[in-house]
Amino acid sequence: MKNAIIVSRDAHWRTVMEGTLLARGWRVASVEGFSEGDQPDAEHVHAILVDAASVDSNEVANWMKSGGDHLKVPLVMVPVLSELDALADTLDVPSAASKPSSGVVLRFWGVRGSIPTPGPNTAFYGGNTSCVELNVDNHSIILDAGSGIRMLGMDLMARAARAKEPLDMHLLISHTHWDHIQGLPFFVPAFIPNNRLHILGYSAVRHHLADVLAMQMEPTYFPVSMDDMPAHPDVQEVDDHFELGEVKVIAFFTNHPGRCAGFRFETRAGSVAYVSDNEINSEGQATHLPRETAQHLHDRMVETLHGVRILIHDAQYTRAEYKTKVGWGHSAFEDVVEMAGEAGVEHLVLFHHDPMRTDDGINKMVREARAFAAEKGFQIRIDAAREGMEIHL
Ligand SMILES: [Zn+2]
Ligand SMILES: [Zn+2]
Repeated sequence: MKNAIIVSRDAHWRTVMEGTLLARGWRVASVEGFSEGDQPDAEHVHAILVDAASVDSNEVANWMKSGGDHLKVPLVMVPVLSELDALADTLDVPSAASKPSSGVVLRFWGVRGSIPTPGPNTAFYGGNTSCVELNVDNHSIILDAGSGIRMLGMDLMARAARAKEPLDMHLLISHTHWDHIQGLPFFVPAFIPNNRLHILGYSAVRHHLADVLAMQMEPTYFPVSMDDMPAHPDVQEVDDHFELGEVKVIAFFTNHPGRCAGFRFETRAGSVAYVSDNEINSEGQATHLPRETAQHLHDRMVETLHGVRILIHDAQYTRAEYKTKVGWGHSAFEDVVEMAGEAGVEHLVLFHHDPMRTDDGINKMVREARAFAAEKGFQIRIDAAREGMEIHL
């Protein structure tokens, strides 16, 4: 683990820089400047990154003169935030880009739970609701159709234009709560005649999946019905085991009001599991399910997730917050870390962020989750899902 100190008087700058470095596995501390009492301690540090817009270079020069010149690590004046990713690449050794491509990529298009939350306090992690793409050799397996699917649709249109070929896509729906289907009417590729969209999921409790999806496009709610979508989406209800091309899929029930599926995918480059909405009750209380049923579901899930390489899991709450949300169908990150540790997960991606969770709050959660895992002796890489994030398997 590498350590960085970031120096800025601008809270937004600190949040964004901290998030970028955390996402790359760095440990980060921040200070506001080089004035006395607020100087970075350069022991055991691998880089110091200074916000050139809010920290005066004379201040940096004075600090260097008064002893900071013994610094053996790079001190970088960062001109603008938009160059952050390129800068972070140069600090990362070895670069992930040098790895040969397996053709399997995970992309995050919507990472928020419950309702879209645009605004300045969520700009870094993003405010769109659930949508993740598992792309295998340019074939998209789309996980959920929250508002993030709109941007994925635009990107798929651009890819199809470059390839000069129609799109053939699979969309897996975990469940039909609004934050997982509300983007579908705005998914542009479904409005292009030669494209094919196959939708898969469990049936809902009261209705078939096809009916629930069509209902949100009835004239009261939306001007175009699902039957009039030119790509003619076909909707299939799935069993516990199925295959999408070479990818083997296991579907399983999660603990969430209504009926909600989680999925485990076996790809040639390793396994991925998507559990967007799931309640873990570590104290064995009844949730919306009776205690024994919830425990049985949990034990089966740990078995199904055993040894998975990347687990994307609901981390809507902290344990303190969860106390007043028992039965709401979501987990505290501490319980997710414990389950991931028990299941031998390699890389945990915290997902379905609470609408109230700011960028600062997510950075804090990542730091606490890593500390909690270390305390428990789990060797897990932990990150928070962020819109635009890609993981090359
Ligand atoms: Zn949800
Ligand atoms: Zn839900």
